[in-house]
Amino acid sequence: MMLVTLLVIINKLMDIGMVESPLVRRVFSGRSVTVADNGRINLKALRALKVSREELFEGLREHGIRNLGRVAHARLETSGTSSVFRNRGTVCGLALLPPHTAHSPTPLRLASRFCSACGSPADLDETICTQCANRTFAAAAIEPDEPP
Ligand SMILES: [Zn+2]
Repeated sequence: MMLVTLLVIINKLMDIGMVESPLVRRVFSGRSVTVADNGRINLKALRALKVSREELFEGLREHGIRNLGRVAHARLETSGTSSVFRNRGTVCGLALLPPHTAHSPTPLRLASRFCSACGSPADLDETICTQCANRTFAAAAIEPDEPP
């Protein structure tokens, strides 16, 4: 009986601490993490979270994102869910769908391309990504504005 009472008191103190103290909240709940920002993948965060690039792409596709350029900001929340904020207007970025699917954005032959690992834009003469040292690139894909 004494142990149960002690556990109830600890639980109540934790509840109060979670509401009143940002430090307690951060220690026991963790923090949400930015996994993509302005069309680029945060590879360091993905490695720390042990999330693959393909898993991130799958999560973004579940939000209806077909082009990494559409992502203004994506966060993995402490609850395990994700939040995605979109760029509006026509966007250019790394395609998240295989090139020949019916819903794939139309790839364009532009004077730009994107790192296939992190999504950073790269000039045609670059042989190595300046952000992540990757050596493979994908053609730029452009996607018209989404309906509101
Ligand atoms: Zn890169």
